[in-house]
Amino acid sequence: MKQIVFATNNKNKLCEMREIMEGLYEVLSLDDIGCHEEIIEDADTIEGNAKIKADFVTNKYHVDCFADDTGLEVEALGGAPGVYSARYAGEHCSYQDNVDKMLAAMKGQTNRKAAFRTIIALNLEGESYYFEGRCDGQITETQRGVEGFGYDPIFQPEGYDKTFAELGHEVKNAISHRGRATQKLLAFLKERGPAL
Ligand code: IMP
Repeated sequence: MKQIVFATNNKNKLCEMREIMEGLYEVLSLDDIGCHEEIIEDADTIEGNAKIKADFVTNKYHVDCFADDTGLEVEALGGAPGVYSARYAGEHCSYQDNVDKMLAAMKGQTNRKAAFRTIIALNLEGESYYFEGRCDGQITETQRGVEGFGYDPIFQPEGYDKTFAELGHEVKNAISHRGRATQKLLAFLKERGPAL
């Protein structure tokens, strides 16, 4: 089966992607190809960071590769933290630090609209492609739920009265930013015909 590298070592993302691509591509991680360098994600857009990761791997290892990057954009904060979502509360902060900082920044704010945006950058047979997934919703007043990760306990997707952390994996994956971007990637790869 044809191989493709997913520029990540995040076990959850890898597992999910291997299931989705089953029968189409063998998905390899950075570990699998012996890539242990730190890839510096210093672009000021999520598109830029996804491209940096995919290009690093393709240029150095001469393989087809895709990479994802995600940001949470909060309207009342002028689109912040966006590309800086992982280190919103500081360089080595925890998910809880970010949640606490966001709840404090949004205290008393009536406009609570927010969106998660994921970009997947794909390098395939010498060409580059981008797939976007978006999930609109709002920042809750307090944190609720224990599933998921990151900002999940304070993000309530549009049309639901529960946070991602209360909704659980199955519902989240069906409607989430990353889920939608991944479905677009999958549709594109399927349309290109069966893998060799
Ligand atoms: P990454 O680009 O996927 O590593 O995401 C950057 C940061 O955005 C993460 O460190 C999380 O704080 C946040 N994030 C990304 N995806 C999600 C999600 O599905 N739920 C909640 N937070 C997320």
